[in-house]
Amino acid sequence: MDETILVVNCGSSSIKLALFDSNHEKQASALAERLNNPDSIAKISGDSVPVALPANASHDHALQALVNAFYDRNLMSREPASIGHRVVHGGEAFREAALIDKKTITAIEDCASLAPLHNPVNLIGINAMQRLFPDVPQVAVFDTAFHQSLPKRAFLYALPEHYYREWGIRRYGFHGTSHQFMAHEASRRLGKTPATTSIISAHLGNGCSMTAIDNGISKDTSMGLTPLEGLVMGTRSGDVDPGLFDYLAGRGISASEAHRVLNQDSGLLGLSGQTNDMRSLCELADHGHEPSQLAIDVFCFRLAKYFGAMMVSLSHLDALVFTGGIGENSARVRAQTIEHLKLLGITLDPDLNNHHGQYSEGHIGDADSRFPVLVIPTNEELVIAREASRLAKLN
Ligand code: ADP
Repeated sequence: MDETILVVNCGSSSIKLALFDSNHEKQASALAERLNNPDSIAKISGDSVPVALPANASHDHALQALVNAFYDRNLMSREPASIGHRVVHGGEAFREAALIDKKTITAIEDCASLAPLHNPVNLIGINAMQRLFPDVPQVAVFDTAFHQSLPKRAFLYALPEHYYREWGIRRYGFHGTSHQFMAHEASRRLGKTPATTSIISAHLGNGCSMTAIDNGISKDTSMGLTPLEGLVMGTRSGDVDPGLFDYLAGRGISASEAHRVLNQDSGLLGLSGQTNDMRSLCELADHGHEPSQLAIDVFCFRLAKYFGAMMVSLSHLDALVFTGGIGENSARVRAQTIEHLKLLGITLDPDLNNHHGQYSEGHIGDADSRFPVLVIPTNEELVIAREASRLAKLN
């Protein structure tokens, strides 16, 4: 069998694995969920028989079981040629993906205070795969790395300067792997090179962020020190007045409780009082549930406002790009958002939009639109596989 590349994405209670061949075609994928819980489960995609896991399976248990299942089901016949790991926070230490050695691991540990829910669990995945495959080159691909090109005027908060110098408080940005993929894929679809293509990329999944990419380089992004800032998200508020914390403290809500509410009880869920799921919200709104319609309205308005704000970072604009579960699938969200941008001369073709650009190479803009609008399915796993393979070969 051909050489393979294994992509590992460890979340706090889940693991996603993907197996690519040397042509970067995906061969298999697997998912483990509810780890460290009595009802943990694991499955290979397209296989109805679950992969057996012990009760309260740890990340280590699940990785071992899934790798064994890849072998047993002949999806993998020998060790992978390289392994790529998604790592959430690379701080200022990483401007691009890095081969994993002792120095890289220490640097990822040093960034853990900036992403306490993510980096430690990413490291658990790295350690587990190093134990399973000690001789295979492994690569870390960071969500933050693509945004290390932000100019100071975009990444500094207007806070006492030593907050940045001493504590690293600044805008880092996230979803970098997805935005980077958008930059490449948009340039291909526009018949240009990434280095001459400028886009505004909106990644709209459960987490949502927007990035201004000028001639292939990230110049501004909506998420900040943490992935809470910016757009309205499934359960996250995005931008709020920082004065809110003191105001809530006066009502007996501590800073840490307010932080939890802003991360877990806000966004689409908080506004609608029903769900963080955009598809369900659209159905509720169609049945006359006003708070759900209001949640969609706030979501789209904020999104449009950010499209406008991102323009100040660009030398020219080749396209607005939608991606992520909502961006790829919700014609309604795209239409309602672009409606706010009429003054900028941006308009959609309703038919192309309703077909999600499927028959038009992703194009959904009206022929008269001042700028093209694209829908592009994201593929973070592919970027990680490419980076793992590229760096392993340099090793
Ligand atoms: P994650 O950030 O967890 O990877 P996804 O990118 O899969 O999430 O996006 C999940 C979001 O996409 C959910 O809010 C879901 O409702 C939304 N979504 C998926 N399909 C549709 C659809 N057809 N219409 C509206 N929203 C959709």
